[in-house]
Amino acid sequence: MPEWRSGDDWDAHYRAQSFWLDAVPGRLDPRPSLTGDTTADVAIIGAGYTGLWTAWYLKQHAPHLDVALLEAEIAGFGASGRNGGWCSAYLAGLAHWAADPATREGAVTLQREMVAAVDEVGRVSCLAGFDCHYDKSGHVSLAMNAHQLRREHQEQALWRSLGFGDEDIRILEPQALDRRLRVNGVLGGGFMAHCATIQPAILARGLAKAVVARGVRLFERSPVREWKDGEVLTPGGRLRAGVVLLATEAFTGTLKGFSRRIAPVHSTMIVTGRLSPEALEATGLRRRFGWGDGRHRVTYGQLTRDGRIAFGARGRYYWGSRLRTRFEAGDPVFTTVRGELDRLFPALRDTPVTHAWGGPMGIARTLRPAVVFDPECGAGWAGGYLGDGVGAANLAGRTLADLVLDRDTPRRRTPWVNPPGLTAPPGRAWEPEPLRWLGFNALYSAMGRADAAEAAGRRSADRWNWLMEKMLP
Ligand SMILES: Cc1cc2nc3c(=O)[nH]c(=O)nc-3n(C[C@H](O)[C@H](O)[C@H](O)COP(=O)(O)OP(=O)(O)OC[C@H]3O[C@@H](n4cnc5c(N)ncnc54)[C@H](O)[C@@H]3O)c2cc1C
Repeated sequence: MPEWRSGDDWDAHYRAQSFWLDAVPGRLDPRPSLTGDTTADVAIIGAGYTGLWTAWYLKQHAPHLDVALLEAEIAGFGASGRNGGWCSAYLAGLAHWAADPATREGAVTLQREMVAAVDEVGRVSCLAGFDCHYDKSGHVSLAMNAHQLRREHQEQALWRSLGFGDEDIRILEPQALDRRLRVNGVLGGGFMAHCATIQPAILARGLAKAVVARGVRLFERSPVREWKDGEVLTPGGRLRAGVVLLATEAFTGTLKGFSRRIAPVHSTMIVTGRLSPEALEATGLRRRFGWGDGRHRVTYGQLTRDGRIAFGARGRYYWGSRLRTRFEAGDPVFTTVRGELDRLFPALRDTPVTHAWGGPMGIARTLRPAVVFDPECGAGWAGGYLGDGVGAANLAGRTLADLVLDRDTPRRRTPWVNPPGLTAPPGRAWEPEPLRWLGFNALYSAMGRADAAEAAGRRSADRWNWLMEKMLP
């Protein structure tokens, strides 16, 4: 965390983190830090969506609870202020839970809760009185080759097997796709109705304001260095609480003793200037659904409310779980992202890019997201969303609040809650280096090779896909 120097302009510093933070109305000056010793009923570490939603639901159900939120920078500094803005019902790990007879019923509930979470995000932003550009126009996944189309059919079959129908998810023929967006050489795709596009930083900042208005004490620029036995330590003070919840996702390794708990992988994004009417017409985009192609190395995009394209590509892991929140504008990674966008929409080649940024998201060793709470020691955490965290963090926060307040809801009986082998705080460690670095890079390499082989119609695609299935759950 940079040190404060008199005359520093924190507003400019935080605006430089992403296009979304740059476009938040009002100033981004930090709220006061924690100083001295204090107590709370519940302490939450990290003011991204997970921490903010947890605080929101705790206050909804128990308005008199004393909740303190400790944030290293400002609310929305992490992935929550930098993401692609798809608030979708996709949840990593669902196929795994659906395939296991012991967790199948819970997987159905979980998917229904995820569907409800997308609407809940829109409902609460309305209720709390902020406009995060929420537009529930669904999600389109483009299949550029036969392998990608097969995966769309598999995804649809999974949803069907959980009781969802055509109104939830369906295959789109090329003509139907063409009415939504115009991409050369597309074979078809999938449409999933439960996805809204949002302005992610306004959601995070709006939620922060809403929880503060409901009595949550939000301390910004208060990085927690250590958490032990109900006590959290920051450079300016300490806080003792009956319950402590960790909501730092990719940043979890910044706490003493947690360096191998969550592995950060990075995604990078660009946003174009406002599209000219001709460029917009060429893309065929008329509505603000989320879209991406079906490659293993995922790409994702949305048409922003002010008529730009925000587009990103995942993923990168750095040696020793190094975190990166700053990327120079000239970083070659952005040339790759721009190239991917131009490949999909050649007509955008002359449209300039105005912002480029990146950030980390977290992966737990189980390779599945989790919500964990141990009432005995009053400790919990949620995260590891693997890049599908906007909708999932709402459900995770709501579920954490249920667990803390011992509310009996169906959410508590879903398979991502207290899964075997994960204790609170996050129990299972990643392998030490160099194994972690080798593992991630082997996976990325296999993904890239599978994508290339699929695109070229090479038979080796089956081999790479087989290898990836062995590496991933
Ligand atoms: C570029 C990018 C694109 C993405 N696109 C999408 C998308 O389109 N759809 C989707 O569903 N998901 C997407 N994701 C993932 C999604 O944004 C995350 O899963 C989600 O925001 C995680 O929220 P969180 O609150 O758990 O973590 P974060 O938002 O990362 O919040 C963690 C907070 O903890 C704070 N913190 C860190 N260390 C400390 C400490 N020691 N003490 C106190 N506070 C601390 C951080 O400053 C941060 O504010 C994307 C992620 C990235 C990076």
